[in-house]
Formats: sequence, structure tokens, C-alpha cells
Amino acid sequence: MTQNYDVIIIGGGIVGSSLAAHLASEKNKKLRICVINSTNSGMPASEAAAGLLTPFQLNELENPALKEFCFKSFEYFPKFLETINSGTSIKNIDLGYRQAGSLYLIFSNLEFAQKETEIKDLRTIEPKASFLNKADIIKHEPLITKDLIGAYHYPSESYINNPKFLKAVYLYCTENSVEYLNTTVKKLDLRNDLIENVVLDNGQTVSAKKVVLCNGVWANSLLKDVCNIEQPLIKAIKGEIIRVEVCDDNPLLQKIIFCSEGYLVPRPATNQFENDSILIGSTSEEIDLEKIKSPFLNTVSGISSLTNLFKTLVPSSKEYSINNYWAGLRPQTKDKLPIIGKIPGVKNLYCSLGHYRNGILMGPQSGKLLKELILDNYEDPMLKHFQFERLFKIQSKEKSKTVLIPQG
Ligand SMILES: Cc1cc2nc3c(=O)[nH]c(=O)nc-3n(C[C@H](O)[C@H](O)[C@H](O)COP(=O)(O)OP(=O)(O)OC[C@H]3O[C@@H](n4cnc5c(N)ncnc54)[C@H](O)[C@@H]3O)c2cc1C
Repeated sequence: MTQNYDVIIIGGGIVGSSLAAHLASEKNKKLRICVINSTNSGMPASEAAAGLLTPFQLNELENPALKEFCFKSFEYFPKFLETINSGTSIKNIDLGYRQAGSLYLIFSNLEFAQKETEIKDLRTIEPKASFLNKADIIKHEPLITKDLIGAYHYPSESYINNPKFLKAVYLYCTENSVEYLNTTVKKLDLRNDLIENVVLDNGQTVSAKKVVLCNGVWANSLLKDVCNIEQPLIKAIKGEIIRVEVCDDNPLLQKIIFCSEGYLVPRPATNQFENDSILIGSTSEEIDLEKIKSPFLNTVSGISSLTNLFKTLVPSSKEYSINNYWAGLRPQTKDKLPIIGKIPGVKNLYCSLGHYRNGILMGPQSGKLLKELILDNYEDPMLKHFQFERLFKIQSKEKSKTVLIPQG
């Protein structure tokens, strides 16, 4: 039987599109690649994100494998950006990528003591991380409150305009023979341990040698087609963001600002039609996608907590006007690590899911490693931490379905 494609990727957010870009970059292999991406599920997390590329903000409680993966992703990010920029017909697009550095504000001696233990480990990776006193901060960021004792400075942390980045990756893919289908995958037809057909919204089917799930918080229903999973594998963690506009009297921040309650991210204009702005983020609340009617609407409590945060951090906040606000859903697994690799029991099914708070940062690196697994059957040692199996005991097979029992 001939398949329509070599690889079908379900989901065209940053995770799916980065994988497609890596596959497409293997030009001599002449792969037929298709990304099926629905545009009516709600705002993709990749558009809703704040665009932070800030691996040093993962605290000591975070899993060491995740930290290592984030550092590797951070190192790899500019290389991927270069591939995208040099491989598309429109050259030198400003994607709002700035290695501006970040400040983590410290308001009390207790907070200072806690952060100091955390930062000790980090100094081996980021020797330039340092503590700045109040006077230094006022010099760097005159807009920021003076009601603090200092801040940790991470000079290499960066940000990007993620909606523009996503568009650039899409452009690279389409100019390098990746086909995008704007529709929803309704079902996966499993026969003899293989995904034989991918069933689309209109009932038509397409097929591929390999199929990859990259559809973020919407993955649970398709996973149910092929694995007997009782509970949803991917949780939806809602996050709200506000954007305020910058004008002459209220200039742009120089650096990313963090505190224990949230963050402010400069979003400079990338062309003459845009204005400089600041993102204020972000709330965090687990929601049940089956039960909540309007998961993408902002809430009164979300907006008020974000405006309060802005008021605390920037005393002149009243002068700024809000020019946009939105909400998105972070895909999170039970142990907060992504799942990148093969799905057990189905010979041609892979996934790259659950990138939670750091999917813009980790998306390109995930795409690179999954491409190596799919094309060369090479499993990078890092991927062993992110295998699907860690979350389940595989018990038996029943009616051609792998039965997976949640661990723990
Ligand atoms: C408020 C907020 C702030 C964040 N800030 C940051 C940050 O600063 N830095 C960072 O690194 N990360 C951040 N993240 C996390 C990051 O956005 C996510 O981890 C990442 O975008 C996940 O990408 P994805 O491609 O897996 O999912 P998505 O971007 O959600 O893409 C999934 C795509 O699949 C499509 N789809 C779903 N079901 C189907 C189907 N059945 N058929 C076809 N298509 C389908 C959807 O329409 C969607 O386009 C943030 C997230 C949120 C919500």
C-alpha cells in the first residue's frame, strides 16, 4: 500500500512546526512531509506564550533532566534561528529576538537567602550571573520600583516575539516543501499495530509511514484512539497575559523582569507598523477542557492580578494603556516533563507533547532530537528521561489496543 506522505505531523504549533523544519532541512532525503493543523481549536500555546528564553529561572525543585534539556535548548536556539532566517526567501526579518538579559527582583532578606542557595549551582553554568544592588538596578531600569533590596542579573537570558517566530518557521517549512493542511484530525485508524489512516474532519483519510502527535493540550482524545488511557495524559494549565503599550513618557524596559509573582517582558516593535510594548504575565490555573466552556477567555481575577503585579513593579503603571490581553493553555504532564519519542505498542506512532512552560525554548531542540529518532533511529541519551513509558505500566493487549496503566 502506498502512503500519501513519509511523515504526518498532527499540530502546527512551535513543537510540530520545528519538527517539520528539521525534517525538511534533510533536503537530499526528499521527504514528503505534511503538517495537519486545525485553526479552530482555540489560541495555540505557541501564539499565547510570552516568548521567554530563560533557562536560569528553573528553580532547584525542578527536575535535573529538564534543566539540562532547557540549557541545551537555550544553546541550540540561535542556531535554529539562523537556519530559519537563512533558509527563507524573506531575509533579515526581525523576529524580536533579543539577548537582553533578565533581572530577578529580591524584596526581602529571606528571599535573598533562598535565592542565594539556588544561584550557587547556576554560577557553574552561568558565571556571569551576579547580584545587583538597588543603585545598579535604578541605573539599568529606572522604571522599576525602588522598594526592593536588589536583583539577580542573568545577562544572557533572551526573549523572542513568538507569534512572529512561529510564522517564520511556517514560512521556512512551506518554502521547503512541507505541506500544511488546515483541518482537524478526528481519529487515528489503528490496525495490526500500525496507524493505517489519519481521519480528517471531512471524513477523508491520509496516510504516512510515520505519524507524530504534536497537538498540545488537545492530544488526549487521539491518544485514546490508540491507547486505553483512563485519565487524560496532558493537562491544560491556563495562563493569561496582558500587553501594555509604551510611549515617549513610558519607555520600554531594557531587560526581562522576574519576581516571585510573575514577569514583565519587553516586546519591542519589529517594524514601523508596531509600537513597543510590555507583556505582563502570567497566571496559572489547571482547567478541565471537557468542562470549561470558554477556556480562552480572560477572567476578572486574572486581569486584576496582572495589573496589580504591574502596579507593584512599575510605579508609573497608571500611565500605560492596555492594548491587548489573551489566554492560552500550557500542555503539562503529571511529572511536568515533556514526552518525546515513540508511543509503545504502535509501530509508526511518535509524539512530542507536554512542553508546559518552556515549549518555545524547547521546541527547536525537541524537533532536532525527534528528527534523529524518526529518520536515523538514533535516540539521544537525553530522550530516555522523556519516554512515554515512564508514565505507564504496559499491561497487556486487548482488541488491538495497548493497555496502559498509570504509574504511581
Ligand atoms: C500564557 C503562556 C505563556 C507561556 N510563556 C512561555 C514562554 O515565555 N516561554 C516558553 O518557552 N514557553 C512558554 N509557554 C509554553 C509554550 O507556549 C508551550 O509549551 C508551547 O507553545 C507548546 O507548543 P505545542 O506546539 O506543543 O502546542 P500548541 O502551540 O498549542 O500547538 C498545538 C496545535 O495543534 C493543533 N491541534 C490540536 N488538535 C488538533 C487536531 N486534532 N488536528 C489538527 N490540529 C490540532 C492546535 O490547533 C494547535 O495549533 C507559555 C504558554 C502559555 C499558555
